[in-house]
Amino acid sequence: MKKRTGLYVTFLAFAVRLSPLSAAAELLAPLDLRAVKVGGEIGRRIDITITNNLLKLEVDRDFLPPFRVRDGKTSYIGLGKLIDSAVKLAAYSGDPQVLALKRHLVDETLKTQSADGYIGLFPPEQRIKTLWDVHELGYLIWGLLSDYRVFGEQRSLAAARHAADFVVKNWTLLPEKWGEGSDVAPHVAFTGIERTLLGLHRETGEPSYLDFVVKTRALPLWDLDIVTGRRMGIEGHIYAYLSRCLAQLELNGLHPDPRLTRPAERALDFMMRRDGMLVTGSSGQCEIWTDDQDARGDVGETCALAYQLRVYDNLLRNRGDSKMGDLMERTIFNALFASQSPDGRRLRYFAPLEGTRAYWNTDTYCCPCNYRRIVAELPTMVYYRSQDGLAVNLYAPSQAKLTVGQDTSLAVRQDTAYPNSGTVRITLDPSAPAAFPLRLRIPAWTSGATVAVNGEPVKGDVVAGAFFDVRRTWKSGDQVTLDLPMRWRLVKGRQRQAGRVAVMRGPQVFCLNPAQNPDLAQLDGTELGYVALNPASLAEPVACAAVRPGGIGCRLQAWKPGFGLSQKADYELTLTEFPDPDGKAVYFRLRDFRGAVDDELCATVRQEKGKQ
Ligand SMILES: [Zn+2]
Repeated sequence: MKKRTGLYVTFLAFAVRLSPLSAAAELLAPLDLRAVKVGGEIGRRIDITITNNLLKLEVDRDFLPPFRVRDGKTSYIGLGKLIDSAVKLAAYSGDPQVLALKRHLVDETLKTQSADGYIGLFPPEQRIKTLWDVHELGYLIWGLLSDYRVFGEQRSLAAARHAADFVVKNWTLLPEKWGEGSDVAPHVAFTGIERTLLGLHRETGEPSYLDFVVKTRALPLWDLDIVTGRRMGIEGHIYAYLSRCLAQLELNGLHPDPRLTRPAERALDFMMRRDGMLVTGSSGQCEIWTDDQDARGDVGETCALAYQLRVYDNLLRNRGDSKMGDLMERTIFNALFASQSPDGRRLRYFAPLEGTRAYWNTDTYCCPCNYRRIVAELPTMVYYRSQDGLAVNLYAPSQAKLTVGQDTSLAVRQDTAYPNSGTVRITLDPSAPAAFPLRLRIPAWTSGATVAVNGEPVKGDVVAGAFFDVRRTWKSGDQVTLDLPMRWRLVKGRQRQAGRVAVMRGPQVFCLNPAQNPDLAQLDGTELGYVALNPASLAEPVACAAVRPGGIGCRLQAWKPGFGLSQKADYELTLTEFPDPDGKAVYFRLRDFRGAVDDELCATVRQEKGKQ
């Protein structure tokens, strides 16, 4: 028997005591996918991802055949990610077609599993050590585990365990210094495996999976600095970095250890305080951390967005920090939804702020599959059960059911036109009168927010950038009205965007689609960025369906590029919501910069830098 470290023994003791394992109590816990229904733009994106994307896939042509042939000619598909998204979207929608697709994917995948547990794309001699084999296999285990967690499918759990045992048993096939000095660092090549085996350990109590994560993969010791710019090893790979952070945070939930939160804190610090995040919520260039605020090119990988959202979700749950919710809505309404065509069918790898945006040319691979997965998880980010009540994180027309206190069932409903409007009406329907706090996220971008219950203003300061708790004995039909004033914000650009502004309102960023004006139609993103806006012309948003039915636009006047600005504006423009597929510019000049404001999510850093 191998010698075990003290850390391992501690984990083992924990594993034996609790089986299946339960995480330490979170401040905020997500609701079951089946307990929430979402409308508005978030709900529409979920719906079109199902009807116009997931159900339009040719899974028997594009996804499954290489797993049957296993000739090593295909290096990566993303089948496990697809299974995970199908499981979650089937549970959320209850749609028989999605359920049938999920069953088909699982049936056909299980038929390809070898007697030794392997599922994948490679012949025996290439397994484990060929690049992306562990990545694909890890997510297949995750997808099957998801089927067990959500639908209780024992055969999926058995297959997941069998495949995980194959990984653990055959890890020694890797040469000792595998990946060192190559194009892809080992932690990037194995992205996802730690979270998967940890998840399997939590469900089964099986110590060998925890042993693999803690000892073999040394997850608690991983503490990589932020590496910027693409180079050998691609250490600064955001998706790989955040996926490991997430695994560390989840391990921290089982056994708190300060080392496990450091990389996530470093990533957040880089994004929010060191120019590592763009105004749309996306991060990185060519999949890698960057802090130059370059808005062109391969900006903001969709996989990275998905893992940013999961890290925010984890920190919101464990720390109750409402800023995490602010980051979530910024990322969802802008960068994430820009990764999908307005009709839902096509998906992107990158969504630059400046210049032409391209769609990814297949339904397979990392970004399309991770897009479907994260959209399937959005329903769980709207409401959270707090230790004694309910927290509302995302504002969207929606309904949910949960239990508060010992056994009071509570139905909650939001009526709102958010993000068109910051007015949100929340109706509570407890099965019996019950005292509990209703926690409302007050975004950092608002000021002068108010809360009323049944028309009576609630006393107390409603502070932006925090949760506001309404405590009372709730009875059926009680109605809370939250009013979050939404004003246009001209948000100062930083680094390469310094001296210009992005136009925001609430969580939304607006962009310029030059096709609407013949003078501008010939210009690319960079030239469009020399257009000067007239802030005095800003008025109420106008209706604009460029992105979604019921969408809004920003009507305003602007001057042509050049220094000779006349009194009379040259253009009447309508800036469209950032997911407009033909949007080509986000930052613009101002004639008078005094009305510009710092980004409320990234301002601290800039102020600190100014003092240095
Ligand atoms: Zn990707």
